[in-house]
Amino acid sequence: MNDLHQLDVTALAARLAAREVSSVEVTQHFLARARAHAHLGAYLALNEDASLAQARAADARLAAGERSPLLGVPLAHKDIFVTTDFPTTAGSKMLEGYRSPFDATVVRQLADAGMVTLGKLNCDEFAMGSGNDNSAYGPARNPWDTERVPGGSSGGSAAAVAAGLAPAATGTDTGGSIRQPASFTGITGIKPTYGRCSRYGMVAYASSLDQAGPMARSARDCALLLSAMAGPDLDRDSTSLDRPAEDYTAGLGQPLAGATAAQPLKGLRIGLPKEFFGDGCAPDVLAALRAALAEYEKLGATLVDISLPRTELSIPAYYIIAPAEASSNLSRFDGVKFGHRAKDYADLADMYKKSRSEGFGREVQRRILIGTYVLSHGYYDAYYIKAQQIRRLIAQDFQAAFQQCDVIAGPVAPSVAWKIGEKNDDPVAAYLADIYTLPASLSGLPGMSVPVGLGAAGMPVGMQLIGNYFQEARLLGAAHHFQCATDWHTRAPAGC
Ligand code: GLN
Repeated sequence: MNDLHQLDVTALAARLAAREVSSVEVTQHFLARARAHAHLGAYLALNEDASLAQARAADARLAAGERSPLLGVPLAHKDIFVTTDFPTTAGSKMLEGYRSPFDATVVRQLADAGMVTLGKLNCDEFAMGSGNDNSAYGPARNPWDTERVPGGSSGGSAAAVAAGLAPAATGTDTGGSIRQPASFTGITGIKPTYGRCSRYGMVAYASSLDQAGPMARSARDCALLLSAMAGPDLDRDSTSLDRPAEDYTAGLGQPLAGATAAQPLKGLRIGLPKEFFGDGCAPDVLAALRAALAEYEKLGATLVDISLPRTELSIPAYYIIAPAEASSNLSRFDGVKFGHRAKDYADLADMYKKSRSEGFGREVQRRILIGTYVLSHGYYDAYYIKAQQIRRLIAQDFQAAFQQCDVIAGPVAPSVAWKIGEKNDDPVAAYLADIYTLPASLSGLPGMSVPVGLGAAGMPVGMQLIGNYFQEARLLGAAHHFQCATDWHTRAPAGC
């Protein structure tokens, strides 16, 4: 029973279904590990009574003979999803102590599937960041090297799964926040097509980019979770897509049509954008990717050279559009309707000013300033409209590329996880490191990170797979076949 944290969701579900272990026991095991690893800064909130009540309810369903693939398995949520049983802070002082009167749709869907919530996970403030070092509650740490960042903004989710403090977690990805922390911690994560998972109850950062997704130990686990999370929520989220839920586990291990068991990916064309494999990417990351691509060739895939010519423009375009939307979304935190209210103030304007200055951290304030600037009269056309035009061109480049290939592969990030604090004095250095994740975000395309090796200082390296709209099953299948043939996804940090 001491090895429960080494099992993936699939294995835990099998033990629960066989009634070899109860959901209460599994939940207690992970809660004890969460408490014992508090130094990782992964969790922001636990509520043992609530978790155990959910576990007991799952055990009762199991005892009554009910069987479903996630019943009784625990997970934890990024603290950007609102929850009734736990406070929700979005990593900000602004929301300290906030209790939502409802659960986010994604939280509710996973609870309906019988999953038990272990707690809420650390993240960059309002999901703005790449290292989880912009959290008002302190950094989350990378379990592979606690002096390094776990990535961000879903850093607590990544740290918790990598260290075995939760078998799986939710994350959100606006410009890379599922894929990059998954890559930095050696786990698997997928950002689905924009609109596939409901944004209802997700504290908004940049609404035209924000997307929820699962982070777990394998592509198979991600497929299980995503099957429960994805689907229409038309009454509550105006950008939710009217497309029925899918079972991403169906056919997951099947060879592609016309392929063989020995070469299950025969016929799959993997596009390699030349802009993703240039000087900007560290040699250790490139070496791990080359080895993984050779493995893909053994599995039958063919590699195709492609180009995404506007890759570099994704950084300025994203860092105009995302702050613009953030400045609008965050205007609701005025100390009246939502959020922290300053104690002493002279009048209403003074109250807004002081409440927002006290409640928001530096990076959030910086983005509100940038966003307000690019939306202001005279600059709107020069910056915001221009960025939107570039965004459209980037999306068109992908459509041209998908004429030549079925999926696109490349790095998730230009390097392995950096040291905590290393990029604190230079926000632009952190923005530049988003270069490989932003193009898919701006285009609304699904993307995932698959662990493919260890790079500098023994830190994990992830490979990014990008698919066309609604090609999540194809991505998960390509990742699953790779994981059947390799064991990178089973590696855990020392002592975990
Ligand atoms: N690093 C990017 C940013 O700071 C992406 C964050 C995210 O995906 N939430 O905006």
